[in-house]
Amino acid sequence: MINVVLFGPPGSGKGTQAVKMLEKYGFLHISTGDLFRNAIKNETEMGLKAKAFMDKGNLVPDEVTIGMMNAVINDNPDVKGIIFDGFPRTVAQAEALDVFLNSKNTPVSKMIALEVSEEELIKRLLNRGKDSGRADDADRDIIKNRIDVYNSQTLPVAGFYKEQNKFASIKGEGSLDEIFARICAVLDEIV
Ligand code: AMP
Repeated sequence: MINVVLFGPPGSGKGTQAVKMLEKYGFLHISTGDLFRNAIKNETEMGLKAKAFMDKGNLVPDEVTIGMMNAVINDNPDVKGIIFDGFPRTVAQAEALDVFLNSKNTPVSKMIALEVSEEELIKRLLNRGKDSGRADDADRDIIKNRIDVYNSQTLPVAGFYKEQNKFASIKGEGSLDEIFARICAVLDEIV
């Protein structure tokens, strides 16, 4: 089983590229952001809890996020691979994921990081905010906070996988197909 962590700041194109990856490789795509947005739409207890953090552009607490992720992995035992999109976002989440996947003998295979300049990120997020209906994409201050949170809490996760020699980074700018070809070049070495 292949476990790929698709990594990058908000607006780096993880969700878009993950869909192309699942179409080509048939992997399960798990986006924690999508799971939280669904929980909010369904007005679950977890959704209500997550909303307060998401609206401000802050991270949902680790115990909530890790518990949700472990449950989804357990619910999909027969997949040939998983694309983790937007998770892990803290070193504590990365450690928890390692423990959980190692207990199933299916460790993380690779982290693929999308590199995009901050100027381009802000432009993309403000554009997405015009029609996505996402409050956290529509407000420049919230976007700025999400990028700050990424730099302070999430970037160290790259170091976690670098230490394990599982880190690959690619340029996340250019056409969707160009970026996807760069991802495939990394993936084709391990599938
Ligand atoms: P995203 O769709 O990945 O940009 O996520 C939207 C929001 O969901 C983030 O700004 C966080 O508030 C929350 N979120 C998504 N994934 C995580 C995670 N792994 N840990 C904590 N919060 C998360």
